[in-house]
Amino acid sequence: MQRITILGSTGSIGTSTLDVVARHPDRFQVHALTANRQADLLFQQCRQFKPKYAVLMDERSATHLRQRVVEAGLDIEVLSGLAALEQVAVLEEVDAVMAAIVGAAGLQPTLAAARAGKKILLANKEILVMAGNVFMDAVRASGSSLLPIDSEHNAIFQALPRDYDGNLIGNGVRRILLTASGGPFRNTPLTELYDVTPQQACAHPNWVMGRKISVDSATMMNKGLEVIEAHWLFGASADDIQVVVHPQSVIHSLVEYVDGSVLAQLGNPDMRTPIAYGLAYPERIDSGVASLDLFKVATLDFVAPDFERFPCLELAYQALRTAGTAPAVLNAANEVAVESFLEGQISFLDIPRVIASVLSELPVTAVNCIDDVIGADTEARRTAVQKIHALPPSRRSVALRGSL
Ligand code: NAD
Ligand code: MG
Repeated sequence: MQRITILGSTGSIGTSTLDVVARHPDRFQVHALTANRQADLLFQQCRQFKPKYAVLMDERSATHLRQRVVEAGLDIEVLSGLAALEQVAVLEEVDAVMAAIVGAAGLQPTLAAARAGKKILLANKEILVMAGNVFMDAVRASGSSLLPIDSEHNAIFQALPRDYDGNLIGNGVRRILLTASGGPFRNTPLTELYDVTPQQACAHPNWVMGRKISVDSATMMNKGLEVIEAHWLFGASADDIQVVVHPQSVIHSLVEYVDGSVLAQLGNPDMRTPIAYGLAYPERIDSGVASLDLFKVATLDFVAPDFERFPCLELAYQALRTAGTAPAVLNAANEVAVESFLEGQISFLDIPRVIASVLSELPVTAVNCIDDVIGADTEARRTAVQKIHALPPSRRSVALRGSL
């Protein structure tokens, strides 16, 4: 029996994880569930999975949940705050931690799990972008096993040798081909991008995901973050990773070997496949995902990424090449810009502008410990907010004001 803590259980990855877990009550037991402030959904999950702990980041939401848990006669300890998130990630009796919080908020509890030697299922890619060397050092030092859940990295993991040691050349790998759908604006005329709404940006053609990653997919920053994620997971340099736009999202990524062989992993675009793979590794279990109907798919297309349309992808490659605190700055500026876009404060096209100006303003320093990362993250957020305030009012926010 594997006991699991799910960090971010109410999100898209969290609920897909619970869907897979529910299919295998003989294998998995939910030990702790956590969320930001969605007390109602967390309560429903508590009733169904009966964990020992439920944690909400927000204290008031936790008070509400505690009341409902008591009324329902459930034996669950309800906690709140960052220290509680860390606590449930390192409990002695927990075997595996699903890292499915979105953004930098997941860094500290997941790092604590890595230091405690837990098996980590990593969906929360921002952790590796911000703090790749610190996180990977913690994984190695504790002997924890790290299983990539991001579909592309899970595909690469499956296409690499089972005992892969982080050395591409030594394993005969020529390059990694990281597929990208291109998001909802792949073919939108450039002149229309200024006016796209958060709702349009979140309407992904192939995947149903949280709002932040949906916007990241629309700007292709998601692929940029994934290039950096692949760097840390597989020991690949920026030059070893080729992004391939593949609109059908059926091939989840590929590994090319020196003999010309190219190994790919295919499947329906459904995160339950990589989640089930991570949960049961090295075994295979039913994930609830339907068979891939190749006759229905019929055609697979591939095109080179358009760096002019998607400047965020270029910014991410540059940050990886610059190294040090640059990726943490990129990530923090992106989180602030995406949040502002979702709140209707800036235009879609302002997202890369804000990130680029934060990156060019802040000095790059070395990352030796987690405090270096947190310092760079804080400074980048502050600078991003300043840059947003300094922007001329966007056409859309003017339009919004006009309609009030
Ligand atoms: P989501 O927004 O649907 O869910 C996020 C979860 O984190 C929720 O449970 C929320 O309550 C919790 N959370 C948010 N802010 C928090 C905070 N400050 N403190 C504590 N908890 C907080 O996001 P998602 O789409 O499930 O994505 C989660 C992570 O997985 C992201 O890093 C994303 O990039 C990655 N990922 C997602 C998908 C996907 O298909 N959704 C695919 C690959 C990778
Ligand atoms: Mg992905």
